[in-house]
Amino acid sequence: MPQTLTILGSTGSIGENTLDVVSRHPDRFRIFALAGHRQVEKLAAQCVRFAPEYAVTADAGHAAALEKLLRDQSCQTQVLYGAQALADIAAADCVDGVMCAIVGAAGLPSALAAAKAGKTIYLANKETLVMSGALFMETARANGAQVLPVDSEHNAVFQVLPRGCAGRLDEHGIRSIILTASGGPFLDTDPAELEHITPAQAVKHPNWRMGRKISVDSATMMNKGLELIEAHWLFDCPPARLEVVIHPQSVVHSMVRYLDGSVLAQLGNPDMRTPIAYCLGLPQRIESGAQALDFETLSALTFRQPDSARFPCLQLAYEAMNAGGAAPCVLNAANEVAVAAFLDGKIRFTDIARTVAHCLNGSFPNDTGSLESLLDLDAQTRRQAQAFSERPNAKPYF
Ligand code: NAD
Ligand code: MG
Repeated sequence: MPQTLTILGSTGSIGENTLDVVSRHPDRFRIFALAGHRQVEKLAAQCVRFAPEYAVTADAGHAAALEKLLRDQSCQTQVLYGAQALADIAAADCVDGVMCAIVGAAGLPSALAAAKAGKTIYLANKETLVMSGALFMETARANGAQVLPVDSEHNAVFQVLPRGCAGRLDEHGIRSIILTASGGPFLDTDPAELEHITPAQAVKHPNWRMGRKISVDSATMMNKGLELIEAHWLFDCPPARLEVVIHPQSVVHSMVRYLDGSVLAQLGNPDMRTPIAYCLGLPQRIESGAQALDFETLSALTFRQPDSARFPCLQLAYEAMNAGGAAPCVLNAANEVAVAAFLDGKIRFTDIARTVAHCLNGSFPNDTGSLESLLDLDAQTRRQAQAFSERPNAKPYF
């Protein structure tokens, strides 16, 4: 029987890579639903190619536009729209697995719906774990949902950890989890230049082709900060046992340090189809389309420590992770607003960290027990971050 999939965020970078892997295995996977928000032309082409039962857009206007494109091509896919439709296609009875690849906090309610429905969750949307790690993991556990990490670092760690070791690191002789980071495009840029960085420069990642938000997160290293929090929840790993090392070539995707001195790593070309195929194929290995690693052309693998003065966002994420409670949710919301403002040309690159620090230093309720309380906190922080990033006569924070 083929595995039935819903892909949330099918028109994004992870969504397209997922469909590329799926297309290599027509007997193995069937697409039940695709969600593509506002990118109706791309979504229409995906519907024609993969013939899902449902396609979900952002709102009625985009739904009407998609409907017209589909009918013109005699495609029978039914069109739905809005947040409830995202949750419905994630939780539908016939669905086995859900790829959660919406970007940002917008991906949380549908990911949580998949967890409540006990689905196999292919989790790319790291913001879900940053915002609601405790609630999401507990909901998954209570409903028998399996959470498989798509993020390349966590996928690497998952591949080299013994099964079932989450929360029992000592029993398995695990000393620490080491996340590798490329360091992004500004690893060696003169720090004085950072405030003049343009959005076009910031989204140009040296090794990976990704959506705009995660590309800026990589440039500030907030991405690695979000990934620390993601690893903390996925592997039930105390913050003190999480390490970050800069590895500019992005070939070692992450590592696990064991008690006996061994360090196990997963290597490969930087291509998200590898972790996606690993998750979709489990327990088998399946073809992903990624090129084999070529040791003749691979020149050097280098490693160094991150510089917290250059990357204040990484430090802020460490602080939020250590503070726990609602702090990571505040970190995430402030960062999303600041990154969007930077991409719109409204604030400088260096103002992203200032905005996040401002929100983390304010007071906020510490209730993380329900989706509603987290969404309220998210909305409140967004307003605060918006006001801060639009303030007149902004003074440097650092
Ligand atoms: P992207 O911007 O390329 O795609 C985002 C997708 O989400 C698109 O399909 C878009 O239509 C949809 N979307 C945007 N806003 C939405 C909203 N409000 N409601 C519903 N859908 C919405 O992003 P991406 O690079 O594919 O990243 C997706 C997620 O995966 C992010 O959380 C990112 O951190 C994570 N991730 C991405 C990569 C990568 O290589 N791209 C690697 C690891 C993790
Ligand atoms: Mg990653």
